[in-house]
Amino acid sequence: MARNIGAACRRCRREGLKLYLKGDRCYSDKCSYERRAFGPGQHGQARFKKLSNYAVQLREKQKVKAMYGMLEGQFKLNFQKADRQKGVTGENLLVMLERRLDNTVFRLGFAASRNQARQLVRHKHILVNGRKVDIPSFLVSVNDIITLKEKSRANSAINENLEAVARRGIPSWIELDKDNFKATIKAMPNREEITMPIQEQLIVELYSK
Ligand code: SF4
Repeated sequence: MARNIGAACRRCRREGLKLYLKGDRCYSDKCSYERRAFGPGQHGQARFKKLSNYAVQLREKQKVKAMYGMLEGQFKLNFQKADRQKGVTGENLLVMLERRLDNTVFRLGFAASRNQARQLVRHKHILVNGRKVDIPSFLVSVNDIITLKEKSRANSAINENLEAVARRGIPSWIELDKDNFKATIKAMPNREEITMPIQEQLIVELYSK
């Protein structure tokens, strides 16, 4: 499956925001954005004139795409699905992104980043309702039970991730049973718990042109 393999830290610097794409490194003083909080490249530190409306909308979309590790085609498909649903399109889009299995595995703490979570899913470490699911874009639903495969429970990296999840917190729509490597989806994700600064309306405006 195609994925964006560009330099992660460069994307944070491009968007002017920590996107937490590299797990533990993002919380350490090795974070590239902490050391160089300006754009990448030769002109990264140059002052540019005010961005056009289009550029602001584009940057917002690129930022959210990078956060969830998605490519343009997948992202646009999600937007189109969100647009067909009832309710506010921007919120529908974010809820759909949150429901992705790779994001859920990251949120509940088996992985330190969404990228790592995607690998766990692709490598068949994750069960949904007792069945192996290796599709990162699979959407979880209320009452789904996400578990780690029995054989993977001794994996030290996963155990360390579970210990470290407290620093970013587990959203209320997931109930984690750490001892049994099991999580239950208690509700649909809600907008209020997505704490990264996202203006989803800008993405809707961009795609509605
Ligand atoms: Fe972004 Fe993490 Fe790299 Fe820092 S370490 S720049 S937060 S990806």
